[in-house]
Amino acid sequence: MGKSKKEFNFSNEMILEIIRDYSNDTIYFKDTESRFLWNNRSHAAQFGVDDPRQMKGKTDADFFPKEFAQRARKEELEIMDTQIPLISNIERLEKPDGSVVWYSASKYPLLDSTGKTVGTWGISRNITAIKIVEEELYRTNEKLKRLSHVDDLTGLFNRRYFYEMIEKTASQYDRRVREAMTKNPKNTFSLISLDIDYFKRINDTYGHNKGDDVLRLVAGILTSQCRKTDMVFRIGGDEFMMLLPDTPLKGAKIQAERVRSALSSTPILLDETSEPIRLTASIGISCYADCKDVAELIHQADDRLYTSKNLGRDRTT
Ligand code: GH3
Ligand code: MG
Repeated sequence: MGKSKKEFNFSNEMILEIIRDYSNDTIYFKDTESRFLWNNRSHAAQFGVDDPRQMKGKTDADFFPKEFAQRARKEELEIMDTQIPLISNIERLEKPDGSVVWYSASKYPLLDSTGKTVGTWGISRNITAIKIVEEELYRTNEKLKRLSHVDDLTGLFNRRYFYEMIEKTASQYDRRVREAMTKNPKNTFSLISLDIDYFKRINDTYGHNKGDDVLRLVAGILTSQCRKTDMVFRIGGDEFMMLLPDTPLKGAKIQAERVRSALSSTPILLDETSEPIRLTASIGISCYADCKDVAELIHQADDRLYTSKNLGRDRTT
């Protein structure tokens, strides 16, 4: 008979010791007054306390900022009252030095063998590193979203965003109930479609790069003529759209004329030596109140723009 191996004695004390000394997650037990009964080393270390036993009898208020401690106490009262745990709650803690720490915290009711609530216990994990990555991703995502809305050449909004915004604007006005328009004629929006006259000549005369410069300068003139709430888009080539919220057809006409005359009266200087360029544009306007849907609104503005072209350009229809 060989020597029988001595069985490894895996005691409750050992388990407790491992959790106390080696768990990176913070673990604590509290009584009904939210006073600490038992804490592991990670939990104590959070407050710069070496020996977790020194935490006994203390409360969150002895260590955490007041609001944090009050919130924790409120949660614990509710957990004890309902016996419903709070799982993976995201907590934000601002340290006295201004740094921010994030936790994913779970809290449970502490029950005795009869099922009576005698306190709470909880486990928290420091998720600050994950949060930092998450925030970075969020910022990058927002930046990408902004970039995907912008026309590279002019910095105006682009065609894709135009379709997104016109649909969104239309749905908002639909919601604001169309009948309200009869009481408040401003309760609608209008569209200006604008195309530069004879723009090919600019490219032919000065080259495509200078043509690009002209488009950028035109974008600046258009933007300068708008209210804060108006949106200017470059749809492509030398074609632009303006979305005018809270504007009936009459207002759109005034706005279109303002833009048209600003364009024709502003000499465009490509550089100091060259002759100033005079540009004009043809414009079509339409109003949502007169259209059955967005497609008709766009179609009408474009149609009227071509009417302006056919009637000799440099005009609004
Ligand atoms: P019209 O008065 O009928 O509008 O004549 P147009 O010469 O302006 O011609 P149209 O509007 O039909 O075409 C616009 C021209 O703009 C076509 C192209 O040569 C030029 N174009 C389109 N995209 C760009 C661009 O990104 N940069 C530059 N420089 N030119 C462009
Ligand atoms: Mg043109």
